[in-house]
Amino acid sequence: MKTIPHFINGQRYDGSSSRYADGFNPATGEVTSSIPLASNEDVALAVASAKAAFPAWSETPALKRARILFNFKALLDEHQDELAELITREHGKVFSDAKGEVTRGIEIVEFACGIPHLLKGQYSDQIGGGIDNWSMRQALGVVAGITPFNFPMMVPCWMFPVAIACGNTFVLKPSERDPSASLRLAELLTEAGLPPGVFNVVQGDKQAVDALIAHPDVEALSFVGSTPIAEYIYSEGTRRGKRVQALGGAKNHLVVMPDADLDQVTDALMGAAYGSAGERCMAISVAVAVGDVADELIKRLTPRVQSLIVKDGMQSDAEMGPLVTSQHRAKVMGYIEDGIAAGADMVVDGRGLKVAGNERGFFLGGTLFDNVKPSMNIYREEIFGPVLCIVRVPDFATAVDLINAHEFGNGVACFTSDGGVARAFARQIKVGMVGINVPIPVPMAWHSFGGWKRSLFGDHHAYGEEGIRFYSRYKSVMQRWPDSIAKGAEFTMPVAK
Ligand code: NAD
Repeated sequence: MKTIPHFINGQRYDGSSSRYADGFNPATGEVTSSIPLASNEDVALAVASAKAAFPAWSETPALKRARILFNFKALLDEHQDELAELITREHGKVFSDAKGEVTRGIEIVEFACGIPHLLKGQYSDQIGGGIDNWSMRQALGVVAGITPFNFPMMVPCWMFPVAIACGNTFVLKPSERDPSASLRLAELLTEAGLPPGVFNVVQGDKQAVDALIAHPDVEALSFVGSTPIAEYIYSEGTRRGKRVQALGGAKNHLVVMPDADLDQVTDALMGAAYGSAGERCMAISVAVAVGDVADELIKRLTPRVQSLIVKDGMQSDAEMGPLVTSQHRAKVMGYIEDGIAAGADMVVDGRGLKVAGNERGFFLGGTLFDNVKPSMNIYREEIFGPVLCIVRVPDFATAVDLINAHEFGNGVACFTSDGGVARAFARQIKVGMVGINVPIPVPMAWHSFGGWKRSLFGDHHAYGEEGIRFYSRYKSVMQRWPDSIAKGAEFTMPVAK
């Protein structure tokens, strides 16, 4: 059985810990790897390596940093299938979806290749007699990223390409459930010419995260994962004076207006609710049916959910793979039981699904509930599985109020053919990422990703210009030269003359 090691100072490193986690192939249920869980010493070694690499890397011209990222981008293109296969075999999502994830990760690298332009400061000539004022952005130092299981390549790519492009050095702590993609990214970065120590990976769990939070040489923390951990990392990190962005959980709604094209809505809901077995922070888990649209919607959805092709994600016709672990499947099944007990109407029950040849895999079929009420746990909490809840509301205003009252505010969508409704929705909704007739509105690399309310703790969204701001410090410089300096001390606040 293979071991998935750490990657520190430009090479694989087995670590000093005696604690290991089992890595699974969720489609077969087999243990396929052993993952060392970093000790405090392992984390300290990674941070020390990043700290040692920082002076030279931050002094390297941005153009040269960008050239290494261009090499990296070319290697990612070359290794796209290999990376996607690593993801499918540890996460379970279907191979075509894993390739899509790799592509969205590559797009952030492409964005970061523009770093000389993105770090440009501003300049004001002659703000007073013979005085100019200009600004620049400088790297922070060692920064760390802590990432979730559900996008083992794309979410790390929300962080490190932008961070290292800005001149920082990086320690990544990926999810212990699917750690292989991060290790491969580290190797490809090295092959692209990245100096040792600029990008390090520590495999691990809470202990490694706590060691990163407590380490005085870690200047900033980026986190993506569930809300309780996001809140914990935000409060512990900021308490120590660190810069923190912590993206949390979600409950994403899709509003179906009576004038929406129901064929388009059905396709959108199938992909957005059941794609990646619902294990996406932008998955749609609630359809808000406005007016009397629900009955017709359910008529169209039911046969599609019943006939979902659920199997090993490496098989080319698979539409949905397994859940990531048996524990997570048990949790999702617990929510289904809770929904039934609370009185929601079960339309399609995925619990009986058996996948021939893969009986020990962590599979669960697509599940559909109707008449879900806002007080029910299956409405209020993030299930993170292939379960879609339909909530019926009388009108548009009730739909907006319902969504705005929810504690999460990551993504949302509205399907309508009325421009006035679309505009009002985009303006009134208290959610960070909005789709109009787009079910999963994940912003492009040159925009920024992030939710509102308890879906994000901190001031900056991920990647795009927000990412550049997060990973750099603003500095303003005023300068004048001796021939423009008037004689004599000035005791009043300086103003333009
Ligand atoms: P998780 O919160 O369990 O784990 C995320 C990371 O935190 C992992 O690296 C894990 O090792 C670490 N961790 C876990 N428990 C910890 C603890 N007690 N103390 C310190 N660190 C800890 O999340 P997950 O199950 O890997 O991922 C799914 C969650 O991530 C969902 O809630 C999903 O909505 C969220 N997510 C959010 C976004 C977003 O952009 N908002 C994107 C992807 C995933």
